[in-house]
Amino acid sequence: MSTSGEDLTLVWFRDDLRVADHEALTAARADGRVIAVWIRETRDEEGLGPRPLGGACRWWAHESLTVLHEELSDLGIPLLFAAGRAEKIIVQLASSLGVTAVRWTRRYASASRALDGQIKTVLNDQGFTVHSHTGALLVEPWTAAPQSSDHYKVFTPFWKAVAGRDVGDVLPKPQAQSPLSQTLLSRAHECPAVMELDGLGLLDGTETGAGEAAAASGPRWWQDTIAGHWSPGLRAAEDQLDDLSAIIDGYTTSKDVPSDAASTSRLSPRLRHGELSPRQLLQAARTTSSLTQDDRAAWIRQLYWREFSWHLTYHYPHIDSAPIRPEFHNFPYEDDDDALTHWRAGTTGYPLIDAGMAQLWQTGWMHNRVRMVTASFLTKNLLQHWWFGEQWFWDTLVDADEANNPVSWQWVAGSGADAAPYFRVFNPERQRERFDPDDAYIEDWLPYTPATAPPPLVDLRQSRQAALSAYDHMKNRS
Ligand code: FAD
Repeated sequence: MSTSGEDLTLVWFRDDLRVADHEALTAARADGRVIAVWIRETRDEEGLGPRPLGGACRWWAHESLTVLHEELSDLGIPLLFAAGRAEKIIVQLASSLGVTAVRWTRRYASASRALDGQIKTVLNDQGFTVHSHTGALLVEPWTAAPQSSDHYKVFTPFWKAVAGRDVGDVLPKPQAQSPLSQTLLSRAHECPAVMELDGLGLLDGTETGAGEAAAASGPRWWQDTIAGHWSPGLRAAEDQLDDLSAIIDGYTTSKDVPSDAASTSRLSPRLRHGELSPRQLLQAARTTSSLTQDDRAAWIRQLYWREFSWHLTYHYPHIDSAPIRPEFHNFPYEDDDDALTHWRAGTTGYPLIDAGMAQLWQTGWMHNRVRMVTASFLTKNLLQHWWFGEQWFWDTLVDADEANNPVSWQWVAGSGADAAPYFRVFNPERQRERFDPDDAYIEDWLPYTPATAPPPLVDLRQSRQAALSAYDHMKNRS
């Protein structure tokens, strides 16, 4: 590796839209100057590459990239935008710019890993050095294993094995660089896939399911509604982190209260898009002296649930389509479009479910307790396959994540690792009494009044019984 300080490195940004605690960027600056690129990736015929962004994440990415572009510009680093097949674009750019090396932050879903591996081989064959860096996780998934297997299937032993590990220090923002020549930048813009951010079509809302959902109300209207609730971008993310003590003060007791806007941190989209690294969050939690020991420990534990989701996703390549517990291949799910439509639209007649689905639609986020209850209702009371719910969340959540989303859906549906026992069918009325006793959450989000309420879609007792029978049926066939 050259350390002349004169090299030019291409840093490929993906889900790491930040400049501080960015190992690839820091290493590239240590070697010399940097040119950066972000690609709206298209999957190839074999399905390699990241899962295409859902509607809410497309909006978030657009806004966050605007801020990243400005921040990198302040450091003298140009950020290029491109759309298409990463394997072509990265190789083309590396050649036409004459860079010495290409660096990126590692990603862990199997189809992305496979693509990155291919790109690395092609680049190496053409004489470029490639470095992949840690940054999205605290625990590399291949570094934690019990004695009996190459991975953990249960959270607590995983957490006990990794929670005490040294994760290193948060890296500062790199130093600004002297400007790159105009000739070089013109060469970058000659690459046909390179375009302006607006050209990427992230705000079009025309693809995948959110397109479908948004089509009903107009994609721009929908994205504008979400926009009223968030400030994407690394600057707002860092401000949010500065306020960590205020946002997770009392976490142990408030984390299950969905009406309390500050009951949880709402940092999930920041992690999803990499505006903050998990190490920055961990360090902030460890060093914020005003937190109680219990609040601090409880919140840090949640960060490790995310790590566990990625650990599973790494070890189960088809986690978004196949059950971890194979007997669930035989689960007799029903196929009921009408039930699914009511669930998505928040017209099931159960206030907690409908308020949750409205919060999701209007803000791109839903409180964790309500995510669990709405997911249980869809998969158990309505007996719909968890895929459908997972896909709806994928399209509508600003934090839709290739690990946390399928893993959590499988957890609720009972087919996942360390899943909730199947008989744990959340009763939405009891959950409402317990976690929203004053109806504060319902009043914030419920789209109807008692007079205009739709009739309950199913009877809770009967549908629970039907779910348990379906489970028995599956067990008998396995
Ligand atoms: P906080 O309570 O402040 O927690 C801090 C961070 O810890 C979160 O940002 C998140 O990264 C992590 N975390 C917290 N709870 C969990 C959990 N149960 N599992 C894994 N990580 C956790 N989370 C996503 O980030 N993306 C998803 O697509 C997603 N889909 C979900 C789908 C279902 C059906 C369910 C039940 C949960 C899902 N979650 C998902 C997990 C969880 O609901 C969110 O991470 C959490 O609500 C985010 O809010 P917060 O940032 O305020 O969390």
